[in-house]
Amino acid sequence: MLPRFLKPTLSVAQKGAQQLSTSARHNAKVAVMGASGGIGQPLSLLLKESPLVTELSLYDIVNTPGVAADLSHINTVAKVKAFNGPDQLRDSLKGAQVVIIPAGVPRKPGMSRDDLFNTNASIVRDLAQACAEVAPKAFVAIISNPVNSTVPIASEVFQKAGVYDPNRIFGVTTLDIVRANTFIGEAKGLDPQKLVLPVIGGHSGITIIPLISQCKPSVSFPQDQLKALTERIQEAGTEVVKAKAGTGSATLSMAYAGARFGFSLIRALNGEQNIIECSYVRSNVTDAKYFSTPILLGKNGVEKNLGLGKLSDFEAKLLEAAIPELKKNIQKGEDFVNKK
Ligand code: NAD
Repeated sequence: MLPRFLKPTLSVAQKGAQQLSTSARHNAKVAVMGASGGIGQPLSLLLKESPLVTELSLYDIVNTPGVAADLSHINTVAKVKAFNGPDQLRDSLKGAQVVIIPAGVPRKPGMSRDDLFNTNASIVRDLAQACAEVAPKAFVAIISNPVNSTVPIASEVFQKAGVYDPNRIFGVTTLDIVRANTFIGEAKGLDPQKLVLPVIGGHSGITIIPLISQCKPSVSFPQDQLKALTERIQEAGTEVVKAKAGTGSATLSMAYAGARFGFSLIRALNGEQNIIECSYVRSNVTDAKYFSTPILLGKNGVEKNLGLGKLSDFEAKLLEAAIPELKKNIQKGEDFVNKK
């Protein structure tokens, strides 16, 4: 018998192997589109580290062979494959059950918002087109900004291809929830991992609506602090952009949030119960055609939209301000596909 201090502790991979018997049955194949980027690389690392993922398909227009070779040396179960450039796009999606899309050009000095929209809009349109052809039943999780418009773009593409299932296309707003938990946890001295705090609406500025009145455990703030916290959550992306001083936007926290959302999708696919995430989906909860609310996830994607819940007066005003902006963003995305 080995003395206690010599007993090996379980490595991350061994722990993964212990769970393999259940997770491998589901053979979760995940494709990351834009895998070589600032978000794509750490996101792929987190996916590779998880025993929930058995195949990891990395697609980008550059550098995927290097990223895949590097990740493939990690001793976890996921088989990693590189797909580089448009000729390999369709192959990268074959058999994928979950497709996560962080592809897109970040804003550069001198670039207008429309320039950014046009670049990312066509990237998402083309990736969605390939997905509609090759993996029409996959859960598609879109990180590429502007999410308020890229989700309608992907949805229109699927619709035109005749394979649209609104329950399977998701805008990833998880970073807003992660940030809200962090800031509220800090303000109240609570463990941010243990908070449940919905953030609804969309994923830009005033369309981001944190529902602090619904936080569990319940918290309360004086009005000025509530306003300041709400605005900080809405503008948190800018904090990172400023701190990175022109070298990019949130990548590491986004990878964390994207992985969390991806794992929730896989768990739902695996038949786990009570998987709830906020996500920007096709919705009839408000006047906006797409809207983020807490979603109960199941084997077929959106199982139940859990709706707005009870809003405070302050939150109701935020909602009122967000709807026209959201509608404009949605229209812009739809027009982009339909006017071509
Ligand atoms: P990045 O420039 O570091 O990486 C983008 C990657 O996409 C690059 O590797 C690039 O080669 C790749 N790419 C470009 N065109 C492609 C195409 N046609 N097919 C496949 N890949 C392609 O940018 P990043 O920091 O990783 O950000 C990516 C996107 O995520 C941006 O649109 C950004 O605004 C968005 N973002 C979203 C959230 C969110 O909360 N949803 C948060 C942060 C950033």
